[in-house]
Amino acid sequence: MNSATEDKYVSKKAIAANEERFRALITAISDIVYIMSADWREMKQLEGRDFLADTNEPLADWIAKYIHPLDHDQVKTAVEEARRDNKIFQLEHRVLRADGSIGWTLSRAVPILDHKGNVREWFGAASDITETKRAEEALKLAKKRTDQQKRVYETIANSTPDLMYVFDLQYNFIYANEALLSMWGKSWDDAIGKGLLQNGYEPWHAEMHEREIDHVRTTKTAIRGEVSFPHAVLGKRVYDYIFTPILNDKGEVEAVAGTTRDITEIKQNEQRKNDFIGMVSHELKTPLTSLTAYLQLMEKSNPAQEDPMTKKILGQSIKQSRRMTNMINGFLNLARLESGKMFIEKEPFDFATFLQEIAEETRMLYSQHRFVFPESAPVNINGDMGKLAQVINNLIGNAVKYSNLGSQVRISTIIEGDQLKISVSDEGTGIPQEEISKLFDRFYRGQNNNLIAGFGIGLYVCREIIERHGGKIWVEQSTDQGSTFCFTLPV
Ligand code: ADP
Repeated sequence: MNSATEDKYVSKKAIAANEERFRALITAISDIVYIMSADWREMKQLEGRDFLADTNEPLADWIAKYIHPLDHDQVKTAVEEARRDNKIFQLEHRVLRADGSIGWTLSRAVPILDHKGNVREWFGAASDITETKRAEEALKLAKKRTDQQKRVYETIANSTPDLMYVFDLQYNFIYANEALLSMWGKSWDDAIGKGLLQNGYEPWHAEMHEREIDHVRTTKTAIRGEVSFPHAVLGKRVYDYIFTPILNDKGEVEAVAGTTRDITEIKQNEQRKNDFIGMVSHELKTPLTSLTAYLQLMEKSNPAQEDPMTKKILGQSIKQSRRMTNMINGFLNLARLESGKMFIEKEPFDFATFLQEIAEETRMLYSQHRFVFPESAPVNINGDMGKLAQVINNLIGNAVKYSNLGSQVRISTIIEGDQLKISVSDEGTGIPQEEISKLFDRFYRGQNNNLIAGFGIGLYVCREIIERHGGKIWVEQSTDQGSTFCFTLPV
């Protein structure tokens, strides 16, 4: 072999080795590989790796076969650009997969030049990026939804006259709605990231809210409060607010959200209503007191009481005027209670004697029921006799009202530790279980007593009076055979 032949042989061997390596590389990589004619009119070959259908014969309508219709133009433009400057073709686009579904590829092709520097063909590789694209699409969609939700919440939060805000755990505002910003007269940038003091709260007020934030954080429960402070323009206002924990995905409190409502008007209306009830009750009570007194005087001094008819009528008149007095007292108490003007004036007295007086009055007032009062030993109580009499009269009145004529009402007392427990039991129809927890609410009336007159304030006032005496009041039991109401008083 001469040296020229030898050189040729060596370079042929080298080329063969290169080609072999090249083939091995194509087999080893997972990418789709393809070869395009110099002008891209024809696809010479495509190894689809099951992702795309293979092409082994030159194919002219490769765009229609492989490219998603919506991406035809994009692919054509990218091909033209690559051809114009003979630079790398690169594009992410949708493809029609071998199984008929739509996929995504990232495709790259480089021109292969002949020895004169002209493009002989294009060699390309494409990777399957369907999953990445799907994830990207899902992310985009999620972001779109989040953005939309954010706009919804922002619109709600900024269109309400209520104040809405969020504190971080260092007591700094991290959100404030427009109502709050405008109340402060501050911009978002001025107010957000700042604490209560910096946003103009008085020290006592800031301190109070900081302790409440601590409380919400440690208990993970919402709290509600009422606060009154001067507004820059509107003067003294009353606000009702709720602080609620915002929990992270581990269930820990990461921030505290608050809403505050101006309830000044509601409070003023309530006050006016209470004043009105109080005034009306007072005005009604004055003549009624005289009327009752005159009737009693007449009963005592009129010799005509020997006449059974007159005696009966007088007795009934006194009874009815007492009932009316009790009703009016209920309203007076409600009005006083609501406006914080119900005062408990305590003095020591013997409960046994007190109960005897009540027994006499009760027997006179409700002659159609049987009463059992206890024969108890003297018990010293420090309390407001008038108010406590109202409580017992109320319980007895209810026992009579919610039971049949002729049935029995039993009043009993027992000392338990340092508490005197008083019970009033009737043989009435009882109270449905689901109503028991609501009986002591203001204006609550049982569902099945529409025919029985009442205003739903008696038990509400009773609870207030008993609690102000340091005692408790509850329904001990209630069946269709009757109910027992109890309360305690410290001895
Ligand atoms: P009122 O009797 O005017 O409705 P109260 O506050 O005294 O108002 O009582 C509230 C409700 O509790 C009543 O409407 C009634 O349904 C129920 N209730 C109270 N006492 C009794 C009782 N002894 N037996 C049955 N129900 C009662």
